[in-house]
Amino acid sequence: MSSISYLNGTFLPASEARISPLDRGFIFGDGIYEVIPAYGSKLFRLDEHLKRLDDNLAAVRIKQPLTNAEWKSVLNEIVTRNQPIHGDEQSIYLQVTRGVAARDHGFPDDHVTPTLFIMSTALKPLPASIAEQGVAAITHEDIRWKNCHIKSISLLGNILLRQHAYDDEAVEAVLIRDGEVTEGAASNLFAVIDSELITPPKGPLLLPGITRDLILELAQQHNIPAREASITPAQLINADEAWLTSSTKEILPVTMLDGAPVGNGKPGALWQQMMQHYQAYKQQLRNM
Ligand code: PMP
Repeated sequence: MSSISYLNGTFLPASEARISPLDRGFIFGDGIYEVIPAYGSKLFRLDEHLKRLDDNLAAVRIKQPLTNAEWKSVLNEIVTRNQPIHGDEQSIYLQVTRGVAARDHGFPDDHVTPTLFIMSTALKPLPASIAEQGVAAITHEDIRWKNCHIKSISLLGNILLRQHAYDDEAVEAVLIRDGEVTEGAASNLFAVIDSELITPPKGPLLLPGITRDLILELAQQHNIPAREASITPAQLINADEAWLTSSTKEILPVTMLDGAPVGNGKPGALWQQMMQHYQAYKQQLRNM
């Protein structure tokens, strides 16, 4: 059975969705996206995702196509319609592009309407090997632009960086800009240094991750010392723990960095503690 997608007001099988090659998303990568997990068919941190989407659309001056209430209704309907195909745990992808117009770098006329596309895929549980062994990452200079707080669909830099990691049999590239580590190619970064959880502060060089914010919230609730501060590559190499966070991968413990062990080379105690809080938070949502 084909999964059900949503394109410009219509629910239809994903295999039947069609857009024009003149869509500015296709021609220029001119659009914004979000990835929202659903647990127990409940959308995770939906208000936070919709707020980031709204901020991002405003930042690139794409008209907001839906009200918050409309977004919630359409997104919940996508989850419901895909429930027989993907089950209760889904990853919802949405993107809004500036729409279809004759190719010109400048914005099209005001009458051009944004293109809105939503799809669902099954959210698979993370492999058990992660809790036993953790994952390997590499470091790499950040080759992206200077508006990394915008969740742009133009991801060529991120793609090339992620592939560098895969080429080195690692799962992620940890990015370095101006002597500081910022985030991963598709994740945020945390380090445990002197028993304190540290993540780089928000700003134009990293995406304000929804998972990142939740982890800071959970740390506060559970009296885990945490703060936002810059991290140098040397501090990261010497950290007791390093984590990568994102909506679909949750919290990955990095146990190898550039081929050398992080801490004792095993997923750390604070990672285990935070994972329990994170899983409990997800469970509360499922039970709501
Ligand atoms: N940084 C980048 C560059 C990302 O692409 C992502 C995930 N798409 C993140 C951080 C993590 O964000 P979130 O927790 O909202 O998934």
